[in-house]
Amino acid sequence: MDKVRCPYPHGGEMKLIAEYRETYTKYNYACSCGARSPSCTTPDAAYAAAMQRYEPENRVLTLLEVLTLDLDGATCIEDKASGEIEAMLNSEILGEFEELRRSEGIDAASKAYGRFSRAWLRRPTDAEREAVEWE
Ligand SMILES: [Zn+2]
Repeated sequence: MDKVRCPYPHGGEMKLIAEYRETYTKYNYACSCGARSPSCTTPDAAYAAAMQRYEPENRVLTLLEVLTLDLDGATCIEDKASGEIEAMLNSEILGEFEELRRSEGIDAASKAYGRFSRAWLRRPTDAEREAVEWE
């Protein structure tokens, strides 16, 4: 069986989880980032559902979400001033805000980050960008 990969950019390996209920058991795949595949009543069905490469809806990520992604992965960053979008390594993003995060906490770092740039799950279309107001 192929490994189940998380649909988010970091592509981490997802593990089968069984949730026991009174009259049935639910199975799904879970990633360390919190992503879950659809719940099914058998492990085989859960595997098939998880292997369907669904694309989660594109959205703006919080800095905390970026920092919990695989640091070897890249995230699409939109620059507010220039409007340019570029893929940036998550470790680079972490590096830029690490000092602030350490001294003032993740909320302060998130605010500073959101003022100038924002991260997207995937490269956003113009329509997606226009639909989300800057903070
Ligand atoms: Zn994940």
